[in-house]
Amino acid sequence: MKKVIIIGGGFAGLASLFRLSRYKKRFDLAITLISDREQVNFLPMLPDCLGRSVKTKHLLFNLADLSAKKYFNLLKSRVIAVDLKKKEVVTSGQSLNYDFLIISSGTETNFYGNNMAREHSFKLDSVEDAAFLFEALEKNSYAAYLIAGGGYTGIEVATNLRVYLEKRKIGRKIVIIERAPAILGPLPQWLKNCVEDNLKRLDIEVIVNSTIEKIETESTSLADGRTFNHAMLIWAAGVRTADFIQNLEVEKNPQGRIKVDEYLRVNDACFAAGDTAYFLYKHNFLRMAVQFAIAQGACSAKNIIRSLAGKRLIEYKAADLGLIVPMANNHGCGRILGMKMRGFLPVFFHYFMCIYRSYGFKNKIGIIKDLVTGNA
Ligand SMILES: Cc1cc2nc3c(=O)[nH]c(=O)nc-3n(C[C@H](O)[C@H](O)[C@H](O)COP(=O)(O)OP(=O)(O)OC[C@H]3O[C@@H](n4cnc5c(N)ncnc54)[C@H](O)[C@@H]3O)c2cc1C
Repeated sequence: MKKVIIIGGGFAGLASLFRLSRYKKRFDLAITLISDREQVNFLPMLPDCLGRSVKTKHLLFNLADLSAKKYFNLLKSRVIAVDLKKKEVVTSGQSLNYDFLIISSGTETNFYGNNMAREHSFKLDSVEDAAFLFEALEKNSYAAYLIAGGGYTGIEVATNLRVYLEKRKIGRKIVIIERAPAILGPLPQWLKNCVEDNLKRLDIEVIVNSTIEKIETESTSLADGRTFNHAMLIWAAGVRTADFIQNLEVEKNPQGRIKVDEYLRVNDACFAAGDTAYFLYKHNFLRMAVQFAIAQGACSAKNIIRSLAGKRLIEYKAADLGLIVPMANNHGCGRILGMKMRGFLPVFFHYFMCIYRSYGFKNKIGIIKDLVTGNA
């Protein structure tokens, strides 16, 4: 019997699980999925719980329901250490040995050690976070809404907040604070311009070259001296991998993503897939996205099977279908299969893919209903 452990029940973890479970009998595999959550969280639609009234229950899928169909052991626990030499995974309750390991534990919000930010801001790592944020919006009346970070998440959150406030006829300031000279980091200039134009249309202010300097219970101050009183602060200023990965002695990028080779290997018995993996693609590193997480999860599983069959491993060939910045006023900007797109069409593609990739038939129907009624 060969023991295979998968860490993380997200897109990459599940894609590898689905692939491995097909070969369970043939190769006598004992597959264990370790997840710190009982449910799969559908992350791409978290901002939509705010402005588009998507119900959080439609973004959750029980891993236990899956274990009955796919015949794997589900261990609900948090991995705290991995010993690559001993081939051992340590969780909060036990340690387990493996023959093959797939690390697919994604990333989490990076507060860069700023405890004030951790205590006084909201984040969007899970469905629970989205529910907590929505509850706070409903309960409180904030004087302003600040979003730290002008990446995809920050922009999606800001536009959803504007739609949320407009539906309730509340006029308030929404500000995105970005440390870099421009929003959306390495994305092409035409796309940044397109997003900036829409943010202006939605009366969302963008402050670049600035950081949040001081966070107190009642006020938030920026590096340029501006202070916002009684503002809601949402932290979307970057991500990092889990502590157990940060402690691994392997090559990593500053976020702690593990550098993998062309076969997605960390070593002969260990693979990394999804946001955890740092993969060189066209002289750059591949961005974090669902499409790559799913393909990498499947590829690492295939390579485990090929190792067991004594076959040559296959290289992971990244196929980039494109990228979309969907904004909550039904205006999107993106590149799909090489074509530049603006307006409603990229938004339509984004939600089409979200529905296609969400888990469970009931969830798919629920999301469609929420999108239709939430936009009414
Ligand atoms: C708000 C938001 C919006 C996004 N929008 C888009 C989008 O529109 N399009 C797109 O392509 N991508 C989007 N992304 C990015 C996309 O969600 C990720 O690229 C994708 O989820 C990566 O999949 P993954 O399997 O690597 O990690 P994840 O989906 O994050 O799954 C990792 C799993 O591992 C678990 N885990 C973590 N640490 C441990 C541990 N120590 N022990 C056990 N389990 C652990 C986590 O709980 C989680 O269940 C968005 C992300 C966010 C947060």
